[in-house]
Amino acid sequence: MKMEEMLREKLGKEIAQSGDEEIYVALLEIVQGLAKEKEMKETKKKVYYISAEFLIGKLLSNNLINLGLYEETRKVLAENGKELSRIEEIEPEPSLGNGGLGRLAACFLDSMATLGLCGAGIGLNYHLGLFRQKFEEHLQKEEPNPWIEPESWLVRTDVSYPVSFRGMTLKSRMYEIEVTGYRNRTNKLHLFDVETVDEEIVEEGITFDKEEIRKNLTLFLYPDDSDENGRLLRIYQQYFMVSNAAQLILDECVAKGCTLYDLPDYAVIQINDTHPTMVIPELIRLLTERGLEMDEAIDVVSKTCAYTNHTILAEALEKWPVSYLKKVVPQLMPIIEILDDKVRRKYEDERVAIIDRNDVVHMAHIDIHYGFSVNGVASLHTEILKENELNHFYKIYPEKFNNKTNGITFRRWLLHCNPKLAALLDNVIGKGYRTDASELEKLLDYADNEKVLEQILEIKKENKRALCTYLKETEQIDVDPDSIFDIQIKRLHEYKRQQMNALYVIGKYLDIKAGKIPKTPITVLFGAKAAPAYVIAKDIIHLILCLQEIVNNDPEVSPYLKVVMIENYNVTKAEKLIPACDISEQISLASKEASGTGNMKFMLNGAVTLGTEDGANVEIHELVGDENIYVFGASSDEVIAHYENADYKSKEFYEADERIKAAVDFITSEKMLAVGQEENLKRLQAELLNKDWFMTLLDLKAYTKAKEEAFADWTDQKAWAKKMLINIAKAGYFSSDRTIEEYNRDIWHLEKSGI
Ligand SMILES: *Cc1c(COP(=O)(O)O)cnc(C)c1O
Repeated sequence: MKMEEMLREKLGKEIAQSGDEEIYVALLEIVQGLAKEKEMKETKKKVYYISAEFLIGKLLSNNLINLGLYEETRKVLAENGKELSRIEEIEPEPSLGNGGLGRLAACFLDSMATLGLCGAGIGLNYHLGLFRQKFEEHLQKEEPNPWIEPESWLVRTDVSYPVSFRGMTLKSRMYEIEVTGYRNRTNKLHLFDVETVDEEIVEEGITFDKEEIRKNLTLFLYPDDSDENGRLLRIYQQYFMVSNAAQLILDECVAKGCTLYDLPDYAVIQINDTHPTMVIPELIRLLTERGLEMDEAIDVVSKTCAYTNHTILAEALEKWPVSYLKKVVPQLMPIIEILDDKVRRKYEDERVAIIDRNDVVHMAHIDIHYGFSVNGVASLHTEILKENELNHFYKIYPEKFNNKTNGITFRRWLLHCNPKLAALLDNVIGKGYRTDASELEKLLDYADNEKVLEQILEIKKENKRALCTYLKETEQIDVDPDSIFDIQIKRLHEYKRQQMNALYVIGKYLDIKAGKIPKTPITVLFGAKAAPAYVIAKDIIHLILCLQEIVNNDPEVSPYLKVVMIENYNVTKAEKLIPACDISEQISLASKEASGTGNMKFMLNGAVTLGTEDGANVEIHELVGDENIYVFGASSDEVIAHYENADYKSKEFYEADERIKAAVDFITSEKMLAVGQEENLKRLQAELLNKDWFMTLLDLKAYTKAKEEAFADWTDQKAWAKKMLINIAKAGYFSSDRTIEEYNRDIWHLEKSGI
């Protein structure tokens, strides 16, 4: 049936006579029905991707694209005086993730379905998400972010499992969301919940009684863990997620004829970071309950589970005290003790133990010993794991270690967010790139084609104008579409070094005040949420918001420099910002960013990277060549050596360079103190001078130089357009379809079963 008829039938009236909300609900139901038709028979072996986060973004347009109905729907609505883009606005963005790790999980689900792989995501159904970010008096405030509505993509199922904690058993409820593939099969995202959850217990901001587990279990993603009750709650959440996952997986496999001894022929479990680690002891526990000997169960589970490492930041590798685990999941402790005992019998090296001498359980160590694969997420990251962070494990299990450079789905990050560029590509190189991203390289034949280059520039300009309109409507900020759009959007963390970008802005502000006017106006855009308990990260947000006020309200400066900090950065906002970007800020301290995926989205949309040799930036650099990227700063080897020798002193850089000194001093200048909070600004300044753990001042000079060079090059728009084209043409490697093909080839080994 045609979309027009389906819509009329669902609405029970003419489209033109219906409201946007009614049309949204009708489309939701139609799309759900069509997606369901593409659910296919399961293959014998299935991949289960367990993750604490799935940052899936809005689904309506993405699903319409994947089902091949986007253009038809847009046209039908337009003929009836309706705008699909307005209807898209009605959908709330699901608040099930936090940053890159969650967005990666979402891109992977899309690619699995697109490639015809039988797989499912498993996670939790957080009612209030991470938090909604509000700016008040230049400070971040957190509010609950409810997103579940009566009419939504989330479908309640009959599936329910008992999950036992110390002294209490909860009954779960499984919800699911259909995951459409691009012109291919539909898979599912399973989200577990408890029906006793009570949003009413949330008090001021996002605080709530952390001990009321029945009422709070699935309220928030990453609840504050600065006290013991917060940490216990995270263990409750993690165990609830993996116990449900384990029960679901065993049920599905047994239904297909699995004897449990042959579980690895039916299931492969990808453990996304350490949050789902307890699935290993939980599965072992369930298998022994069902009759396997302990050693048999351990063997079966070890052949079923594979682990993805996402970070080398020590504070992010989870460790739980034995006493905490005993308080929440005492049934797992005897198994974890056996797992530790086996390791200790084989290896003397204390560093590979699971339970250390202080009675702390190292979750990643469980994954590495009792999983069959350990992968990093970009080639530099995997090398650092092998040679440094996990070297003692690599020496034991060299065969387990492998690299899977991250990727992004081009359906969302090109076809949906930049339809004009997609249309140009269709015209110039044909539509083949939509299913085989390597075909983007065909664009290289047009690297000197004036007409194509002009069109690329024109599309960028239109996307910048559209962003200006959006910023005016939503943030009441005037931005000049002819200025250079320099964008840094990502979680706020000191290692990502938003503070370095802010110090650059201060330097530029002082230059302009001293009469040194930039050739081209510059707009520096930020978007970032800080973890609610991360004090310095919130101070950096405060710094940027204060700069926004000072710079934008100074008539001598604002014609040449603007600062915009977007509130509540999320997928929806990323989709508007990325297509409008000229310069992509990827300036993490080398060795600290495992991969990054924002860098890939920007490249695909014709932005040029200004970055350190870190994460996947290294691979971007290799692909585009020196001419088409701006790299700067200390190398990962140099940085690792600084940490080893403990020889970095930020004060030396402050004292040795006038510009650096002036910028750091400005943080607590009279002008700043007039708009900001003394406590926050002084604390941040002291941090930069006395600690600067992520070496901001080390790279500030090189950063400034590289940035000025990029700005100068931008003014030659013709030469710049060629850089844009080469970035787009070389972005094919970063399709998550390529990444998932590699996971399947090297780790999962599933047969394809698509349409
Ligand atoms: C892609 C994405 C990220 C990850 O960005 P990085 O720059 O790789 O850290 C975070 N949040 C959202 C909303 C994203 O879309």
